[in-house]
Amino acid sequence: MYCSKCGKEGGPGPMCQNCGAPLASRQSGYPGVQTKKPGGTASMVLGIISIVTCWFPLASIIMGIVGLVLGIVGKVKGAGGKAVAGIVMSACAIPLSIIMAAIGLTV
Ligand SMILES: [Zn+2]
Repeated sequence: MYCSKCGKEGGPGPMCQNCGAPLASRQSGYPGVQTKKPGGTASMVLGIISIVTCWFPLASIIMGIVGLVLGIVGKVKGAGGKAVAGIVMSACAIPLSIIMAAIGLTV
């Protein structure tokens, strides 16, 4: 963890080993709260499921839309990488399942 006062690596303790300032979490937020990533993991999981199930277009589109919405909500709330992964995978799964539906209807 880096000290916000002197900018050096402050060490493992709650106080900076260089200047004694409390290693308050300017980057990491409040302890215990920053681990909560609303929607990120759920969005990523739904994105994966909707890609895997793209040959069941109805289920895939529903999960893709839910995953996309959860991903956007999670991103807005600061979920980060997992939410972005969920948005990307859901955004890929929706057209993919539409294509699969089109193929299924025409073949
Ligand atoms: Zn310091």
